[in-house]
Amino acid sequence: MSRANPKVGFVSLGCPKALVDSERILTQLRSEGYETVPEYEGADLVVVNTCGFIDEAVHESLEAIGEALAANGKVIVTGCLGAQPEKITARHPGVLRVTGPQAYEEVIGAVHEHLPPKHDPYVDLVPPQGIRLTPRHYAYLKISEGCNHRCSFCIIPSMRGDLVSRPITQVLGEAIRLRNAGVKELLVISQDTSAYGADLKYRAEPWGSREVRTRFADLARELGELGPWVRLHYVYPYPHVDEVIPLMAEGKVLPYLDIPFQHASPRILRLMKRPAHAENTLERIRRWRGAVPELTLRSTFIVGFPGETEEEFAELLAWLEEAQLDRVGCFKYSPVDGAAANELPDPVPEEVKDERWHRLMQLQQRISAARLRAKVGRRMRVLVDRVEGRAAIARSESDAPEIDGIVRISGSGVTRLAPGEFAEAEITAASDYDLEARLCQAPTGGRAGGKAAGP
Ligand code: SF4
Repeated sequence: MSRANPKVGFVSLGCPKALVDSERILTQLRSEGYETVPEYEGADLVVVNTCGFIDEAVHESLEAIGEALAANGKVIVTGCLGAQPEKITARHPGVLRVTGPQAYEEVIGAVHEHLPPKHDPYVDLVPPQGIRLTPRHYAYLKISEGCNHRCSFCIIPSMRGDLVSRPITQVLGEAIRLRNAGVKELLVISQDTSAYGADLKYRAEPWGSREVRTRFADLARELGELGPWVRLHYVYPYPHVDEVIPLMAEGKVLPYLDIPFQHASPRILRLMKRPAHAENTLERIRRWRGAVPELTLRSTFIVGFPGETEEEFAELLAWLEEAQLDRVGCFKYSPVDGAAANELPDPVPEEVKDERWHRLMQLQQRISAARLRAKVGRRMRVLVDRVEGRAAIARSESDAPEIDGIVRISGSGVTRLAPGEFAEAEITAASDYDLEARLCQAPTGGRAGGKAAGP
């Protein structure tokens, strides 16, 4: 790439959905001949992709904008916090432009305006899979934008709009390009993965000599034929989710479901306006585990939601004890500007929220530790993320990157491993959240039974 090419610094904050937005913007910029640089000082301009989900994220985003302004001076802001531009300009009047989430064209336009492109088509090549911010061996696959629900604590629909699904052939095409570029794990994300295709009336599209429907279970089945691990995030427990359980039993899709339950008390779930709040989730979990005993369940919960009584919190603890989830994240309720839940009566005092948070985390730590201890002595397939000295940091089918635990492999043969390789490991010890292992077998190229399929 020519030295004179304009350089853009990029800061990506927030959830995997925001990361995918960043990747899109970066891909576009790179295709226009911009160079992207990791530090502010060497950049001609900085783009900050912000998160505005909770107050902590807003604070982090405002700090990042301030840092970029101090170090560079030319800053364009995009992302969720951009939906409330006054929050940004009040604190940082010097930003060049504020754009909202998924405002790709606007961000690119603002970059053009303040830093015109200098494109040389002979040297500026973009790889067909686009620019990715994750390591080479795993990638987030965003299947839709927006959400049709109106959970009372959330302002995402007002920032990102109603559900807009990407046509299934587009998603599968991207998955194949990623696989061909060496991706070994596809992490399917959206705001509501189980609702995929509802806005398109589950439209069928031609795919090779067949037709495929833009629908959650059909997508999971097709992705399961491609070879990489397929991990499903942000799934709600609607009845049709049962359709992916057989795919897990067959080894096509990872036996892993990330379901943000948020609470167990029916009254609190109603106040939260949660999707599928009337489902008997314990019964569903029992049936899923009956069909796929190794199923890993991850979830998140909110404690201290307005009006949550001690009895309702105790109901949540009892539910957790019964559900025996593998991975749990917990947040103390905090009001988000513009959320309907702010109007609810009976706020829970901060010290009660703290106390409930600790009780929930303690219970879950005990459950998680016991579930991990039960894995000691088992052999499992792991995917290596990195090698650190004489140990390899890997993940099992139960561990999503960044949010779950790790499998630390030590002993002979480990230094032969490389990031992105699969290996067979025997679990030798467990802590509260992670596993220790030794290597059983040399690395292998892909998932057992996975085959390179296409349209
Ligand atoms: S399902 Fe609820 S919490 Fe999730 S994005 Fe939609 S409105 Fe927000």
